[in-house]
Amino acid sequence: MAEDIPNMEDALDIPCLKVGAMEGLKPFIAGADHQEALGFPGELVPNWKEKALEKMAEMAETNRAFQVYLDTCVKCGACTDKCHYFLGTGDPKNMPVARQDLLRSVYRRYFTFAGKYFPWLVGARDLTEDVLQEWYSYYHQCSECRRCSVFCPYGIDTAEITMAARDILAHVGIGQKYSNEIIGKVHTVGNNLGLPAKALGATLEDLEEDIEDETGVSVRIPLDEKGADILLVTPSADFFAEPHIDGLLGYAKVFHEAGVSWTVSSYASEAANFGLFIGNQDQMREVSLRIRKAAEDLGVKRIIFGECGHAWRVAYSFLDTLAGPFDFLDQNYPIPQHILEFTWDEIQKGTFKFDKSKNDHIRLTYHDSCNVARASRMGDEPGGQFEIPRNVIKSVCNNYFDMDRDTTRESTLCCGGGGGLLTDDLMDLRVKGASPRMTALQQVTEDHGVTHMAAICAICKTQFSKVMPKYGYDMDSILSVHQLVSNAIILTGQETDDAEEDND
Ligand code: SF4
Ligand code: SF4
Repeated sequence: MAEDIPNMEDALDIPCLKVGAMEGLKPFIAGADHQEALGFPGELVPNWKEKALEKMAEMAETNRAFQVYLDTCVKCGACTDKCHYFLGTGDPKNMPVARQDLLRSVYRRYFTFAGKYFPWLVGARDLTEDVLQEWYSYYHQCSECRRCSVFCPYGIDTAEITMAARDILAHVGIGQKYSNEIIGKVHTVGNNLGLPAKALGATLEDLEEDIEDETGVSVRIPLDEKGADILLVTPSADFFAEPHIDGLLGYAKVFHEAGVSWTVSSYASEAANFGLFIGNQDQMREVSLRIRKAAEDLGVKRIIFGECGHAWRVAYSFLDTLAGPFDFLDQNYPIPQHILEFTWDEIQKGTFKFDKSKNDHIRLTYHDSCNVARASRMGDEPGGQFEIPRNVIKSVCNNYFDMDRDTTRESTLCCGGGGGLLTDDLMDLRVKGASPRMTALQQVTEDHGVTHMAAICAICKTQFSKVMPKYGYDMDSILSVHQLVSNAIILTGQETDDAEEDND
């Protein structure tokens, strides 16, 4: 794999063009069982062309943004070098404008006057099976990160076009196995992992024991506790894998020390909503309705989301439309609220005692996750989604250094595994797509000796733990922000090193 890693001097270096470099790369296509479970046809339907054009017409009719994005591009070129997959692969079809044109050219052919009568003049083309295959390939080389849209003078959002293309493909029988299988598990079991309630309960009990062993304090991680004030909805990775689990321990300590009652739900034991990735609103709604039902059944007053990038985008931007109104919740708190908003509020109130030296073995930087940075907000101030995570980090960590400004905040670079691409069949793309972010990280390592990077997205954390070793870092160099909080917080009654030394 080493020879496949792009050799970049600067994170935003424009690569030499490699026409067709990623042409054959496609994730596994969903089988009939995974397709039909979501209401899609099991295989390519005989009248696929008619169905695809019908779906496109419906989108142009019902989704004004879709039509505007397809109609307004002036080919100014401002977006061409803004995609991490183009920077990492050099394939010109990974330039955002070229990616859009894969669909725009078909839209023009069938839905515009010029395209119908003079297709050669306006780059319009017929919809063929080869075009469908090209869509499947290149619309699964877009992580829906929205970086390109920040630089487009018209605000054209390639992510929306990618979602539309994936939705059309699923409707004619070509869905993606990875995302569709996961959505099916959420519908039947309640989480992406297929972790049943009993196993979840046993896992949480083990984690309670871990906290007590570490601190000497009994901290609960309640499951399905009726009448709790807060429902925590968090990515299921937080229940079983490093570094996610350490983040969950951090949430538990924060809730414990703040003295609030909270619970996890076994029915809605997943924050992730892959309905967003496949561009299907019905699936997004079904997944979101599980959260509403869990909140109603448990009688909670608040919903707080754990560290998950796209889940926070769906929650912050769409939850009320998809599953609202949430008039049964306490209106004095944000609906929904992010765990970082909760923690930062409590830090400002002086609720916690921290020993920042517990993180002194770390020299840290922070990766802004795309969906948090460019598709949501936190707190009451503009830019809160950038400041609040950094404020929390600086409250618990002495050695913090930002990466190059052109690669952070609204200009952040995707981890390379978002948008439903976190699957082994796309590993080559994931490694190459991570190279701009890894190059920015290497620069801050050279300049400031940075050893670790923190993130607040389960996909980023999983992706980085896989690709960082290919760039010379340990797999545990990626951390949860609440893992840092967990390291530094001193619980009331906790045995500290000082107390232990006194006892000795
Ligand atoms: S949304 Fe992100 S991944 Fe997709 S084309 Fe734009 S920059 Fe690339
Ligand atoms: S920046 Fe916008 S208008 Fe310019 S080429 Fe890209 S998508 Fe088209």
